[in-house]
Amino acid sequence: MAGIADDQPLREGVVIQTDEFVDDELVEPERMEFGSAANITRTEAREALLNYVAQYCCFGKGAAKELMMLKVVPSNAMHYTLETFCEGRYTTYDDKPYQGGAVDGSHNGSAPDPWTLRANPSQMFQDERQYLRIPHTSEVRVCSTCQGSRKVTCGFCRGSGFNKCNSCSGRGEKDDRDKDGNHITKRCTSCNGRGETRCSSCNGSGQQQCYHCNGYGKVEVFRKLNIVYKNHVADYVLEGANLPSILVRRVQGVEIFSQTDRKVWPITKFPVHEINQHSVDLVNLARKGHPKERQLQQRQTLTAVPVTRIDYAFKKFKSSFWVYGLQREVYAPDYPQQKCCGCSIL
Ligand SMILES: [Zn+2]
Ligand SMILES: [Zn+2]
Ligand SMILES: [Zn+2]
Repeated sequence: MAGIADDQPLREGVVIQTDEFVDDELVEPERMEFGSAANITRTEAREALLNYVAQYCCFGKGAAKELMMLKVVPSNAMHYTLETFCEGRYTTYDDKPYQGGAVDGSHNGSAPDPWTLRANPSQMFQDERQYLRIPHTSEVRVCSTCQGSRKVTCGFCRGSGFNKCNSCSGRGEKDDRDKDGNHITKRCTSCNGRGETRCSSCNGSGQQQCYHCNGYGKVEVFRKLNIVYKNHVADYVLEGANLPSILVRRVQGVEIFSQTDRKVWPITKFPVHEINQHSVDLVNLARKGHPKERQLQQRQTLTAVPVTRIDYAFKKFKSSFWVYGLQREVYAPDYPQQKCCGCSIL
């Protein structure tokens, strides 16, 4: 790399463009069998509701025990997820205190292309940042914080060497009472009446060791490679029982299909057209979506989340509640006995 001239501003966040990827030949997966998640009985539905009610101190249990189940409608919500795991790289400048000795500068050769430096994520499909020092980019410079003086003004006393006395708040004297209870003032013993004490941070010198160069006066400047691993997640929920789709996203279901590859082929043979369509759309979007990143892996998952809608009657009130997910979560927005003592429900 060319030397860094002293007057050259250090550019931050230079994004490195990566070449457009050539599509490998994608192999369409085998036709898959799609099962369905288990249904629940009325007893299980009531148990789930009772467990749910028990989580809230002010919900009455009576309704959960007594309500009449008019209709139990089992269904499966479909949750399709596409994860696109990418790597982005950009360079910045960084420095560290220079303690002497040789540095790896341009005299050792030209700096390599940042995309040729080896790095691996610790785990796939997990956001992470890594940093590497780019070889042959180091150079020794005078510390810009202390201008090479190795010291900076003390931040506690602002260079004066003294701080206001804590004991007397800077007055030099303190209020007191004599034997008869009369109000008197006494000289502050902490500061001997001066109202200030010597700064303990700099021992009264008003200066401290430079925090930037650790008192060496010089720093080693180098180019730093910032590697950003990012898992881009896109998903789609198909739900026909009027349960908010955000709830379906949060729970576990039965995995119907999962595929991990450098690039996945969209699902096209699932019996439900909307799933195929959204899989195609999301895969296409992901292909164009991150042009400045290198795609490392892709994973698509289709899960069936059991959702049972229970229409019920309690006294003259009629509504529905839902039991959903493998852990049998409950959604009962109209539960009839929500407040018994006036405390707020979170
Ligand atoms: Zn310094
Ligand atoms: Zn004092
Ligand atoms: Zn000080």
